Amino acid sequence: MYANFANIMPQAIAVWCEEEGHDVKYLCYRGFENLADEFQDHYDIVFIGAYTQCAQLAYALSNLLRSKGAVTALGGPHARSYPQDALRYFDYVFGLTDRDAIRDVLQDSSQHRPIGVHIKAKQQPSTLPGVRERWKFIEQNLHNAPVVKIVPMIGSLGCPYTCSFCIDSVVPYQQLSLEMMKEDLRFLLQKFKKPHVGWFDPNFGVRFDECIGAIEEAAPFGSIDFYAESSLSLLSEPHLKRLKRNGFKVIMPGIESWYEMGNKSKTGKKGGMDKVLQVSEHINMIMSYIPYLQANFVFGLDVDEGPEPFELTKRFVDIAQGAFPAYSMLSAFGESAPLNLEYQQANRVLPFPFHFLNTQQAMNVKPSNYSWPEFYKHLIGVIEYTYSRRAIINRFRAIKPILLSCMNVLRALHGIGRIKYQSRVLHLLNNDRRFRAFFEQETTEIPQFYVDRVRNDLGPLWEWLPEGALYHHPNAYLISQKESS
Ligand code: SF4
Repeated sequence: MYANFANIMPQAIAVWCEEEGHDVKYLCYRGFENLADEFQDHYDIVFIGAYTQCAQLAYALSNLLRSKGAVTALGGPHARSYPQDALRYFDYVFGLTDRDAIRDVLQDSSQHRPIGVHIKAKQQPSTLPGVRERWKFIEQNLHNAPVVKIVPMIGSLGCPYTCSFCIDSVVPYQQLSLEMMKEDLRFLLQKFKKPHVGWFDPNFGVRFDECIGAIEEAAPFGSIDFYAESSLSLLSEPHLKRLKRNGFKVIMPGIESWYEMGNKSKTGKKGGMDKVLQVSEHINMIMSYIPYLQANFVFGLDVDEGPEPFELTKRFVDIAQGAFPAYSMLSAFGESAPLNLEYQQANRVLPFPFHFLNTQQAMNVKPSNYSWPEFYKHLIGVIEYTYSRRAIINRFRAIKPILLSCMNVLRALHGIGRIKYQSRVLHLLNNDRRFRAFFEQETTEIPQFYVDRVRNDLGPLWEWLPEGALYHHPNAYLISQKESS
């Protein structure tokens, strides 16, 4: 995890623990630190925040820390998505988390083994520590960030949209304190000549006027550079004019599919090439106001069929030349989204080790309209097209600030690595019977290709990975639903 993407919640927990009178060590793991060295001292309790991709690392670390006498707790997206699995490796596993939930755990602070305790707040917290309160932890991260140092802020939780694959679709939308937002921006203007702020809102600007109004009150036009994720439906031309005036430099809308989710892209029932044309025009208009745009897509949705979704995306690359397309493969993260229950009922979820569940390295839902080799062939085709020499040059030329156009070139290198990786997977699908058997759900034995990669990535912590922790039950959500009904 790059230091600039360090999340807010671990910093909030660090603040809450200090407020309860504890001495706190905060560490953002970026992949470089030697975790075994970092935890030489004795800790009473360690809170780990992890995405599913980091689950095996978190499990190994918890095992190591427990061997030294610490009590361990897991929070973040993995804990929300796979609580039953995580409870086998942690004393506490958090669902939604607020200050009271943390206080209760601190007061108990005892071992719960072999199965931990599942702690769930009723809802998201109504308030989170602001930048001023989190500053000493933020500062520690920024020290490790490269030239551009991004401060994480959040103005809202949840989302009013209902994209069925999204963890935020079931969390009610809630605007956080605008007064705190203003205070934090003023605080940052004292700390930096020109601060950079990354908004962690799932969908920035749902209450657009209130939110931008607060920014305008606190910060003179253009005094702060902002980065945010927002829906196309919120990015109308009048809104873009205000965003530009206020220094928004990077925006990341989700297009997701050429056939559905028209409400969030404001394309209504339009689908196929009609949607490509309308969305591309909209994206080009956005980029005349905001210099850097990442457009997010999901491949493998049940509405996708044949080569068309991939070919349409190539047309998008041709027309919206400056946009950086980010492709995800359909992934069902445990119980994070309502749609996952349907996939589990249909027995379409594969038990890929969590380590590969980052929407790029594995697709854990069996596609309904493609064979695996067919899907990978199309996927590789669209990635190759996106990172062709011509497309890279087009993107470079379409963006004015040199730092941002160079960032696109660097990201293209990552894309080229992805072509190599997916081509290897396709080769194995076509030529390795045992590898293919895992994808076809004929066996749950994890192919050596994946085991080797986890071992390599965990390094010395591989030795601490608890037995069986590479495996999880892909239908645990469904089972827990049946048990509770
Ligand atoms: S608009 Fe974005 S944040 Fe909101 S539910 Fe859809 S994917 Fe999630």
